[in-house]
Amino acid sequence: MKQKYISGYSQTVQKPLLDNKLTNARLTPHDTRTRLGLIKNRYPRIIVEPIAWEKMNNYVGFCNYEVGWLGTVVEAAEDIYIIDDVFLFEQEVSAVTTSIDDESMSEFANTLLAEPDGLDKINRLRFWGHSHVNMQVEPSGQDNDQMESFADSGYDYMIRGIANKHGDMKFDVYDYRRGLIFSDIPWMINIPTSAELSSTILSEMESKVRLARVRGFTGKTYKTTGPLYDDDDDDVPSYEDYFDENGEYIGGYND
Ligand SMILES: [Zn+2]
Repeated sequence: MKQKYISGYSQTVQKPLLDNKLTNARLTPHDTRTRLGLIKNRYPRIIVEPIAWEKMNNYVGFCNYEVGWLGTVVEAAEDIYIIDDVFLFEQEVSAVTTSIDDESMSEFANTLLAEPDGLDKINRLRFWGHSHVNMQVEPSGQDNDQMESFADSGYDYMIRGIANKHGDMKFDVYDYRRGLIFSDIPWMINIPTSAELSSTILSEMESKVRLARVRGFTGKTYKTTGPLYDDDDDDVPSYEDYFDENGEYIGGYND
Protein backbone atom coordinates (compact mmCIF):
# COMPACT_ATOMS: atom_id res chain seq x y z
CA MET A 1 0.00 0.00 0.00
CA LYS A 2 2.73 2.37 1.07
CA GLN A 3 4.89 1.16 -1.83
CA LYS A 4 2.02 1.79 -4.25
CA TYR A 5 1.48 5.30 -3.04
CA ILE A 6 5.17 6.11 -3.22
CA SER A 7 5.63 4.70 -6.71
CA GLY A 8 4.14 7.87 -8.15
CA TYR A 9 7.25 9.78 -7.10
CA SER A 10 10.60 10.08 -8.83
CA GLN A 11 13.39 7.64 -7.90
CA THR A 12 15.28 10.30 -5.91
CA VAL A 13 12.26 10.81 -3.69
CA GLN A 14 11.16 7.20 -3.48
CA LYS A 15 14.19 5.87 -1.63
CA PRO A 16 14.22 8.47 1.14
CA LEU A 17 10.50 7.99 1.61
CA LEU A 18 10.86 4.21 1.90
CA ASP A 19 13.83 4.60 4.29
CA ASN A 20 11.87 7.16 6.23
CA LYS A 21 14.82 9.57 5.87
CA LEU A 22 14.19 12.77 4.02
CA THR A 23 17.69 13.67 2.95
CA ASN A 24 16.58 16.10 0.29
CA ALA A 25 14.41 18.28 2.48
CA ARG A 26 13.45 21.76 1.30
CA LEU A 27 15.56 24.65 2.56
CA THR A 28 13.88 25.92 5.70
CA PRO A 29 14.52 28.96 7.93
CA HIS A 30 15.69 27.85 11.36
CA ASP A 31 16.19 29.35 14.80
CA THR A 32 19.27 31.43 14.12
CA ARG A 33 22.17 32.01 16.49
CA THR A 34 23.40 35.30 15.17
CA ARG A 35 27.01 36.15 15.92
CA LEU A 36 29.10 39.20 15.19
CA GLY A 37 32.71 39.59 14.19
CA LEU A 38 34.82 42.71 13.98
CA ILE A 39 36.69 43.82 10.89
CA LYS A 40 40.04 45.39 11.69
CA ASN A 41 39.91 49.18 11.82
CA ARG A 42 36.24 49.19 10.75
CA TYR A 43 34.48 49.46 14.07
CA PRO A 44 33.95 52.43 16.40
CA ARG A 45 36.98 54.06 17.95
CA ILE A 46 37.25 57.21 20.01
CA ILE A 47 39.56 60.19 20.12
CA VAL A 48 39.31 62.42 23.21
CA GLU A 49 40.35 66.04 22.86
CA PRO A 50 42.67 67.31 25.65
CA ILE A 51 40.08 69.72 27.12
CA ALA A 52 37.53 66.91 27.49
CA TRP A 53 40.14 64.56 28.95
CA GLU A 54 41.33 67.18 31.43
CA LYS A 55 37.80 68.00 32.56
CA MET A 56 36.98 64.32 33.09
CA ASN A 57 40.18 63.83 35.11
CA ASN A 58 38.98 66.61 37.40
CA TYR A 59 35.37 65.44 37.62
CA VAL A 60 36.51 61.97 38.69
CA GLY A 61 39.38 63.27 40.80
CA PHE A 62 37.36 65.75 42.87
CA CYS A 63 34.12 63.86 43.40
CA ASN A 64 33.78 60.95 45.83
CA TYR A 65 30.38 60.01 44.45
CA GLU A 66 29.15 58.75 41.10
CA VAL A 67 29.19 62.07 39.30
CA GLY A 68 28.01 62.11 35.69
CA TRP A 69 28.59 64.38 32.71
CA LEU A 70 27.59 64.82 29.09
CA GLY A 71 29.81 65.45 26.11
CA THR A 72 29.71 66.59 22.52
CA VAL A 73 30.85 64.31 19.73
CA VAL A 74 32.16 64.95 16.23
CA GLU A 75 31.51 62.05 13.91
CA ALA A 76 34.57 61.70 11.73
CA ALA A 77 34.36 59.25 8.87
CA GLU A 78 34.71 55.50 9.25
CA ASP A 79 33.36 55.06 12.77
CA ILE A 80 35.77 57.47 14.43
CA TYR A 81 34.12 59.55 17.11
CA ILE A 82 35.85 62.60 18.54
CA ILE A 83 34.74 63.70 22.01
CA ASP A 84 35.61 67.36 21.84
CA ASP A 85 34.12 68.68 25.10
CA VAL A 86 32.31 67.54 28.24
CA PHE A 87 29.94 69.34 30.61
CA LEU A 88 28.63 68.89 34.13
CA PHE A 89 24.88 69.01 34.53
CA GLU A 90 22.72 69.59 37.62
CA GLN A 91 22.38 66.30 39.46
CA GLU A 92 21.97 64.51 42.74
CA VAL A 93 24.70 61.97 43.31
CA SER A 94 25.06 58.90 45.48
CA ALA A 95 27.83 56.41 46.12
CA VAL A 96 26.47 53.72 43.86
CA THR A 97 24.28 55.12 41.14
CA THR A 98 23.99 57.76 38.50
CA SER A 99 21.36 58.38 35.86
CA ILE A 100 19.93 61.09 33.67
CA ASP A 101 16.27 61.48 32.98
CA ASP A 102 14.66 63.38 30.12
CA GLU A 103 13.96 66.29 32.43
CA SER A 104 17.56 66.89 33.53
CA MET A 105 18.62 66.33 29.93
CA SER A 106 16.30 69.03 28.62
CA GLU A 107 17.20 71.40 31.47
CA PHE A 108 20.80 70.94 30.53
CA ALA A 109 20.00 71.53 26.88
CA ASN A 110 18.39 74.83 27.85
CA THR A 111 21.52 76.03 29.64
CA LEU A 112 23.63 74.97 26.66
CA LEU A 113 21.36 76.90 24.34
CA ALA A 114 22.53 80.12 25.98
CA GLU A 115 26.13 79.40 25.00
CA PRO A 116 27.73 80.24 21.66
CA ASP A 117 26.96 77.46 19.17
CA GLY A 118 24.49 76.13 21.72
CA LEU A 119 22.20 74.47 19.20
CA ASP A 120 25.12 72.76 17.52
CA LYS A 121 26.30 71.46 20.90
CA ILE A 122 22.85 70.14 21.77
CA ASN A 123 22.69 68.31 18.45
CA ARG A 124 26.06 66.76 19.15
CA LEU A 125 25.36 65.57 22.73
CA ARG A 126 26.11 61.91 22.15
CA PHE A 127 28.34 61.12 25.10
CA TRP A 128 27.37 60.24 28.62
CA GLY A 129 30.13 59.65 31.12
CA HIS A 130 30.19 58.89 34.81
CA SER A 131 32.51 57.91 37.61
CA HIS A 132 32.46 54.61 39.45
CA VAL A 133 34.69 56.30 42.08
CA ASN A 134 36.92 53.43 43.31
CA MET A 135 34.98 50.56 41.77
CA GLN A 136 35.77 48.80 38.51
CA VAL A 137 34.52 50.40 35.32
CA GLU A 138 32.14 47.62 34.26
CA PRO A 139 28.61 48.94 33.54
CA SER A 140 25.86 48.15 36.04
CA GLY A 141 22.44 46.90 35.00
CA GLN A 142 21.15 50.40 35.55
CA ASP A 143 23.90 51.82 33.32
CA ASN A 144 22.72 49.48 30.56
CA ASP A 145 19.07 50.43 31.10
CA GLN A 146 20.08 54.08 30.87
CA MET A 147 21.76 53.48 27.52
CA GLU A 148 18.74 51.62 26.19
CA SER A 149 16.50 54.49 27.24
CA PHE A 150 18.45 56.84 24.95
CA ALA A 151 17.10 54.83 22.01
CA ASP A 152 13.59 55.90 23.05
CA SER A 153 14.74 59.54 23.07
CA GLY A 154 15.39 59.27 19.35
CA TYR A 155 19.18 59.12 19.31
CA ASP A 156 20.82 57.15 16.53
CA TYR A 157 23.83 56.30 18.64
CA MET A 158 25.24 57.09 22.06
CA ILE A 159 28.68 56.71 23.60
CA ARG A 160 29.12 55.73 27.24
CA GLY A 161 32.28 56.26 29.24
CA ILE A 162 32.86 54.89 32.73
CA ALA A 163 35.89 56.04 34.71
CA ASN A 164 37.33 55.59 38.18
CA LYS A 165 39.90 57.14 40.47
CA HIS A 166 42.49 54.49 39.54
CA GLY A 167 42.76 55.99 36.07
CA ASP A 168 40.63 53.39 34.28
CA MET A 169 38.24 54.51 31.60
CA LYS A 170 36.15 52.30 29.36
CA PHE A 171 34.04 53.36 26.37
CA ASP A 172 31.08 51.62 24.77
CA VAL A 173 29.13 52.66 21.68
CA TYR A 174 25.43 51.85 21.44
CA ASP A 175 24.44 51.87 17.78
CA TYR A 176 20.64 52.09 17.88
CA ARG A 177 20.29 52.04 14.09
CA ARG A 178 22.01 48.70 13.74
CA GLY A 179 20.99 47.37 17.15
CA LEU A 180 24.57 46.76 18.23
CA ILE A 181 26.63 47.43 21.33
CA PHE A 182 30.36 47.84 20.85
CA SER A 183 31.93 47.29 24.26
CA ASP A 184 35.31 48.46 25.48
CA ILE A 185 36.41 50.04 22.23
CA PRO A 186 39.88 51.51 21.62
CA TRP A 187 40.35 55.13 22.58
CA MET A 188 43.15 57.63 22.60
CA ILE A 189 43.84 61.18 23.69
CA ASN A 190 44.74 63.75 21.08
CA ILE A 191 47.93 64.80 22.84
CA PRO A 192 49.70 67.50 20.85
CA THR A 193 53.11 66.36 19.64
CA SER A 194 56.13 68.45 18.68
CA ALA A 195 57.91 67.42 15.49
CA GLU A 196 60.74 69.78 16.43
CA LEU A 197 61.32 68.10 19.78
CA SER A 198 61.20 64.67 18.15
CA SER A 199 63.89 65.52 15.62
CA THR A 200 66.11 67.07 18.33
CA ILE A 201 65.82 63.90 20.39
CA LEU A 202 66.52 61.66 17.41
CA SER A 203 69.75 63.59 16.67
CA GLU A 204 70.78 63.42 20.33
CA MET A 205 70.08 59.69 20.43
CA GLU A 206 72.09 59.09 17.28
CA SER A 207 75.09 60.77 18.88
CA LYS A 208 74.79 59.06 22.29
CA VAL A 209 73.29 55.60 21.78
CA ARG A 210 75.16 52.81 19.97
CA LEU A 211 74.58 49.07 19.54
CA ALA A 212 76.58 46.99 22.06
CA ARG A 213 79.01 44.21 21.08
CA VAL A 214 78.22 41.16 23.19
CA ARG A 215 80.69 38.37 24.11
CA GLY A 216 79.23 34.89 23.47
CA PHE A 217 80.14 31.53 25.12
CA THR A 218 82.83 30.92 22.53
CA GLY A 219 84.55 34.14 23.44
CA LYS A 220 83.64 35.65 20.06
CA THR A 221 81.95 39.03 20.11
CA TYR A 222 78.98 39.89 17.95
CA LYS A 223 76.66 42.82 17.52
CA THR A 224 73.21 42.85 19.04
CA THR A 225 70.84 42.25 16.17
CA GLY A 226 67.80 44.26 15.13
CA PRO A 227 67.48 47.90 14.18
CA LEU A 228 68.56 50.47 16.75
CA TYR A 229 65.87 52.97 15.84
CA ASP A 230 62.15 52.49 15.40
CA ASP A 231 60.54 54.38 12.60
CA ASP A 232 57.29 55.96 13.71
CA ASP A 233 55.31 53.50 11.61
CA ASP A 234 53.97 51.53 14.54
CA ASP A 235 50.72 49.71 15.17
CA VAL A 236 49.21 52.43 17.31
CA PRO A 237 46.96 54.81 15.41
CA SER A 238 47.51 58.46 16.17
CA TYR A 239 45.46 61.56 15.57
CA GLU A 240 47.83 62.48 12.72
CA ASP A 241 46.89 59.27 10.93
CA TYR A 242 43.39 60.64 10.55
CA PHE A 243 43.63 64.43 10.42
CA ASP A 244 45.92 67.02 8.89
CA GLU A 245 47.22 70.09 10.75
CA ASN A 246 43.95 71.94 10.04
CA GLY A 247 41.91 69.20 11.67
CA GLU A 248 40.60 68.01 8.29
CA TYR A 249 39.94 64.30 7.97
CA ILE A 250 42.52 62.81 5.62
CA GLY A 251 41.35 59.27 5.10
CA GLY A 252 42.36 56.94 7.85
CA TYR A 253 44.91 54.73 9.37
CA ASN A 254 46.78 52.53 6.92
CA ASP A 255 49.70 51.13 8.78
ZN1 LIG B 1 27.71 53.10 36.48
